Amino acid sequence: VTEHVEHRAHALLSASSAYRWLVCTASPRYEEGFPDQESEFAKEGTWAHGLAELKILSYLDSNPREAELAEARADRYWSKANEDYVDLYVTYAIERIEAAREINPDAVILVEQRLNYSHIAPEGFGTGDLVIVCDGRMEVIDLKFGKGKPVSAVDNKQAKLYAVGAVEDFGHLYEFDMVTVVIHQPRLDPEPSTWDIPVRGLLEWAETVKPIAHDAFYGPGKFVAGSHCDFCRGRSQCRENMTHNMATIKGEFESLDVLTAGEFAELLSVAKTRAAWYAMILEQGQKRALNGEKFPGFKLVEGRSNRRYKDQDMVAEALTANGIPAAAIYEPRTLLGITKMEQSIGKKVFKELLSDLVEKPSGKPTLVHDSDPRPEVEPGSSTDGFDDETETQ
Ligand code: SF4
Repeated sequence: VTEHVEHRAHALLSASSAYRWLVCTASPRYEEGFPDQESEFAKEGTWAHGLAELKILSYLDSNPREAELAEARADRYWSKANEDYVDLYVTYAIERIEAAREINPDAVILVEQRLNYSHIAPEGFGTGDLVIVCDGRMEVIDLKFGKGKPVSAVDNKQAKLYAVGAVEDFGHLYEFDMVTVVIHQPRLDPEPSTWDIPVRGLLEWAETVKPIAHDAFYGPGKFVAGSHCDFCRGRSQCRENMTHNMATIKGEFESLDVLTAGEFAELLSVAKTRAAWYAMILEQGQKRALNGEKFPGFKLVEGRSNRRYKDQDMVAEALTANGIPAAAIYEPRTLLGITKMEQSIGKKVFKELLSDLVEKPSGKPTLVHDSDPRPEVEPGSSTDGFDDETETQ
């Protein structure tokens, strides 16, 4: 797993940030001025990739790698549920490997392969989780361990750059004119998102990337703000981002009802990005104030707090010693929520014993952008008022 972390170093024009540098060519150099702090989610993802790699390699060379597996299972990110999610991906990966080997027994299988697209973007490379090449087809498969935003394979810039690198290095090994890109996000959907692109179309797109990548790498590039700013390391200090956010809603409306559907769509998209931006301003303000900075018209005060017991055992003892019955001082037993129960008894046992006893009501209709891969629902088609999140608690 440690090696895994090491060989996952990032390029300046990384594939995972391509959705940003393809639009804001100033961002790669600008971001260099801000510390790159790996989030807990990213660390968990790295662990999951390491475990998946071990399992696929164990399958490929029939070497169980017991010691390394034990080490991965001793890691703080391990849980039965997390390993079950990794296994969903590994099962899919092995199915695809076997399907390719039916076509060519010596099909090329590359696990955690460095994919070099530097002929398109200077010093560009990334790590493909699984690349399979056989007669008639190349598959570039990417594991995503996040459970926040669903990621679709359709026209995915990161996957396309990986595919460009794979075609460059391994395209000569077999005859094929189609590449399948796959994004598997097992914590959100047991089924992966897949997308076919003809090699010719992929290479034509790569040519259009070249001049943009040149600007982004050699600078100065052009600052262009938009929804791609959300994960930019420089977003809280970037003047362009601030100007964009301030300018997008230009006026106040007497009534939102007067807006046309097109105007309202623009406003919705702004509101979604703004909500995150406002939260970031508040967080920055709090941080700077705690560091001693003063903002005119604002002050630091003590926040609200709730009363709490100093020592729960002593509280119980004091009450029972004075004759107050247990029923009056303890909450009744309650079942664990679904997610915690799954983690506690494991996904397999959960499925065996409880699959008929768990239901999933329709989620409350939610307005999202068109790019979201979930199918559209008709207004009024859901009768339940519960969100997915509330169900599991
Ligand atoms: S915040 Fe947005 S505009 Fe500013 S550098 Fe980052 S991506 Fe570009």
